Amino acid sequence: MAIGDFHLHSTASDGVQTPSWVIGTAFARGVQVLALSDHDTTAGLDEAAAAAKEAGLRLIPGLELSTDLGKADVHLLAYGFDRTSKPLQDFLQWQRDGRIGRTRRIVEILAEQGMPLDVARVFEIAGEATVGRPHVARALLEKGYVASVQEAFDLWLGNGKPGDVDRPKLEPADAIRVVHENGGVVFVAHPVFIGEDYAAAIEQLRAWGADGIETYYKHYDPATVAAHAALAARLGMAASGGSDYHGLGNPDDREIGDIPFPDERVVEFVSFIEQNTACPEVQ
Ligand code: AMP
Ligand code: FE
Ligand code: FE
Ligand code: ZN
Repeated sequence: MAIGDFHLHSTASDGVQTPSWVIGTAFARGVQVLALSDHDTTAGLDEAAAAAKEAGLRLIPGLELSTDLGKADVHLLAYGFDRTSKPLQDFLQWQRDGRIGRTRRIVEILAEQGMPLDVARVFEIAGEATVGRPHVARALLEKGYVASVQEAFDLWLGNGKPGDVDRPKLEPADAIRVVHENGGVVFVAHPVFIGEDYAAAIEQLRAWGADGIETYYKHYDPATVAAHAALAARLGMAASGGSDYHGLGNPDDREIGDIPFPDERVVEFVSFIEQNTACPEVQ
């Protein structure tokens, strides 16, 4: 068990559990400092801040952005930004708007494949949340077209499958710039999902200003962690860690805080946030 977890999703995006539940569960499991990192939104942070205050946990502002580096899908985690900034919130709104049209297109494609869904039902499942493929997966499961959320990704929604529709393109350099302009720092999320060439991609991201690498990710084995730590050291980048908890129960999932993130490295990450961001804590 780690004392810090800086990659967590809630019902504000594609997680299954509310921000309060995520915070309460993190506390019960021994986590002391954490970040909620919902996709394209800070909407869960007020509720999370109240829960963190009650539990005596420290909460760092976080969010996750999906960007495109050539053909690679690169996710970036932002921490310590000023979430009251209008330019930041306008930018996030623009990202969320792009997801709405994309969801309609995914539903059209699934209908062509013989799996009609009511798009209104997908938006209903998402509720107020940033809509994403996991909500479509849950709608497919509800209709009985698939046996699990994982199967929905494996057959229809995962990378390269028919329902993997692009979002409007977001360049990593633009995402990094927006986060920096709003007082935050940027960590490259789950580099292994970038593909075999993740080291070259991270060098490029570093040149554009990325600050760190998510080195201690949920199911990474010691050799993978060591490779990421060495890359971070070589490029002069900080190291973060997180479970990417969504509560979906997919095979590689880990519980909150169940990550190979040593206490000393958590402390180092937190002091990096304190020293390099405008807003090291959600107030
Ligand atoms: P989206 O933000 O709509 O592109 O959806 C991305 C989210 O879908 C990720 O944060 C994961 O929660 C989930 N996801 C993406 N690919 C897979 C996969 N192959 N298997 C299971 N879940 C996935
Ligand atoms: Fe997600
Ligand atoms: Fe991600
Ligand atoms: Zn995530």
